[in-house]
Amino acid sequence: MNKEQALKDHQAYQERVAAYTLALTTLNWDAYTIAPKKGGPYRNKMASYLSGELFSITTDPAVIDRLDLMSTFDYDEVTNREVAQMRKEINKTRYIPKDVYVAYNNLVMDANDVWEEAKATSNYALFKPVLKKLIEQTKLVVSYRKDPRPVYEQLLDDFETNMSTKEYDAFFDKLRDDIVPLIHKIKEKHLTRPTWLSEQIPLSQQAAVVERLAKFLDYSKDSGQISLSVHPFSQDFSAHDNRVTVRYHEDNFTSSIFALIHEVGHATYNGQVNEAYDGRYIRKSMTFGMHESQSRFLENMLGRSTAFWEPLYEDVVKMVPALKKVSLKEFVEGINFVQPSLIRIEADELTYPLHVMVRYEIEKGLFNGTLDVENLDKVWADKIEEYLGVRPQNAAQGVLQDVHWSGAMFGYFPTYALGSAYSAQWMKALRKDIDVEKALRENQFTLIKAWLKEKIHTHGGVYEPSELMIKVTGEKFNPQYYVDYLKDKVTKLYHL
Ligand SMILES: [Zn+2]
Repeated sequence: MNKEQALKDHQAYQERVAAYTLALTTLNWDAYTIAPKKGGPYRNKMASYLSGELFSITTDPAVIDRLDLMSTFDYDEVTNREVAQMRKEINKTRYIPKDVYVAYNNLVMDANDVWEEAKATSNYALFKPVLKKLIEQTKLVVSYRKDPRPVYEQLLDDFETNMSTKEYDAFFDKLRDDIVPLIHKIKEKHLTRPTWLSEQIPLSQQAAVVERLAKFLDYSKDSGQISLSVHPFSQDFSAHDNRVTVRYHEDNFTSSIFALIHEVGHATYNGQVNEAYDGRYIRKSMTFGMHESQSRFLENMLGRSTAFWEPLYEDVVKMVPALKKVSLKEFVEGINFVQPSLIRIEADELTYPLHVMVRYEIEKGLFNGTLDVENLDKVWADKIEEYLGVRPQNAAQGVLQDVHWSGAMFGYFPTYALGSAYSAQWMKALRKDIDVEKALRENQFTLIKAWLKEKIHTHGGVYEPSELMIKVTGEKFNPQYYVDYLKDKVTKLYHL
């Protein structure tokens, strides 16, 4: 096969994959938003048929051979990248014996059921042997990659390319040294959470605020959709179809506000990738850390600032009369309230990365042999207490709270904190070009959105985060910006 024919076949292959993916994406969206429960079994059956077809298409040996061949030719930059990334992905599984692969997938599926039961009954002993097996089998499966790096290094790289324990250690050391003392200082102040944060706000009022925010963020119904689901998420269909969901809690109305801003951050990223990449692998190959950096940029860097709410707050108070007694200043203080707590997904901006750090330290220890699964519930509780000053009373509030390990997603957690840290560095670069506060105050989020498109979004997955960081900010990833941002913010907020 010659160079041109290989490219032609490659394009036809991607189109086929994209068609199946769009069908499955649509079914997934439907299932999590409006589909009636009773139709589930039939939908799942049809979806699994489509997934099976897609699996056969993508694991066809001819596809792998063609990618190997294409890697010997020189195409345009984007195609070269795409081929390299697809081969990297395939190399993770191509040498695993089928029986090992099937056994591994079955283990992961069963592990999820065990974890659910263990969490519901707060019984770590039930999950412990399964976790042990998951770690052993993950090590085995990774060993077939013929990659000389230690297993955990490879796992970290799976979720965030070019990140290793060396970079993460430096990052988390900085957080531990600079943020933990701040948290203890704030805790000593014994501040009480403003009561208006948990006031009962009718869902219709919350929905009105969400609509207003979508408008402010230039999130249009022409290419988006806001639906309801149990857990907020965003779903990418194509350049002109990026949907989000929210969830309303009657006694925690700021939750829906920040869920919306966060998910619109993801949707804006997907929606601003170069349209010419629609249907291609490169459109969706952004890393976890990069994606989180965009959602958290909107949610935290912009959405928790005074300038963001200045042009909006009058409208918000009209929509939510309960806020009449809350000044803009009090509102901004409230949405930035710091309170060490036990559950990661409910944590505030300052304590959040330390929840992630606990998981990173434990994962690293489990894979390099300095920790084992025995007494992991206690190890977890000790670390949370050391960093946050609060202690889980049971395993459900501690080691069993997250789904990730039951799905063998080791190496995923650190990207959550990394995304926030990246976003502080993007902010630094953005400020060189745009007066961010002025743009927000004057209702011109579109200026910031256009900057994000030009500098970051349009590239999709063409560049590694480490390359893009240098391209956009002029230097490599530097966690100091994030630490400075957090320190500065809470020092002012709490007069430390
Ligand atoms: Zn996210």
